[in-house]
Amino acid sequence: MKPKMNISFSGGRTSAYMTYMLKKHWSDKYDFIVIFANTGMEHPKTLEFIAACDLFFGFNTVWVEGVVHHGVKKASTHKVVDFFSASRNGEPYEAYISKYGIPNRAFPQCTREMKLYPMQSYLRSLGINHRTIPTAIGIREDESRRVSKSAGIENLIYPLVDVWPTDKQEVLDWWKEQPFDLEIDEFEGNCVGCWKKSIKKHFLQIERDPSCYDFYRRMEDTYRTHGPQDGERVFFRGPTDTRKLFKLYEEFGNDPAAANKAAFAVDGGCSESCEVYETE
Ligand code: SF4
Repeated sequence: MKPKMNISFSGGRTSAYMTYMLKKHWSDKYDFIVIFANTGMEHPKTLEFIAACDLFFGFNTVWVEGVVHHGVKKASTHKVVDFFSASRNGEPYEAYISKYGIPNRAFPQCTREMKLYPMQSYLRSLGINHRTIPTAIGIREDESRRVSKSAGIENLIYPLVDVWPTDKQEVLDWWKEQPFDLEIDEFEGNCVGCWKKSIKKHFLQIERDPSCYDFYRRMEDTYRTHGPQDGERVFFRGPTDTRKLFKLYEEFGNDPAAANKAAFAVDGGCSESCEVYETE
């Protein structure tokens, strides 16, 4: 029997390319368990892309969603869903917020509870302690600063850094040759209104589809005081809530840098994304 390897599939181009390479070159060495954790706030095209990868490349992705446990000190577990049953209106995300409060720079536990722990929970359901098998993470050579400090203890591998060193352009070029692609721009990746995204990305997203932020506004209206902190919590830096973000867009829509100065003390890396085990 071949040893197992877990692949953390984020639903992005890089992660999909890594999965393709692993399955193509290492299938004689490993049985792969490809897992995608859905927060319910991914762009619908991301879900279609994952389904297409399964169809064209045979990824056999396991779709999981986080299950939070209220009233007890217990990490999120998982439920298995599929392309058709996957949440599309932020249900896992709202469940997370209803227990832990709104995530933001000061309370960044959303990846852990909505992606990392549900993936580990799924592996446990197979009788596998995640640390006993390698987990492949889709980080490229040109972004290797994001390699996790806990890579050794968590048994993480970075094939696009260490095995097939690959940069962003190579990934994009490869996808141009394929029969389908992820039909969204970079700013629409991961959770559409992710608090990690730069204001420039938020402005592009608002311009394209302001309704993406209805969920975030509703969360701030409903759960603003949830959590252990004194006072209120909102998603964006500054602190900036969704209403203020839209006011900034009206005022500085063509000048994200000025909006940054007006609202955010610190500019975020505009290429930040959501990888499990990412270095903080
Ligand atoms: S994409 Fe952003 S909001 Fe979504 S889980 Fe990751 S860090 Fe949290």
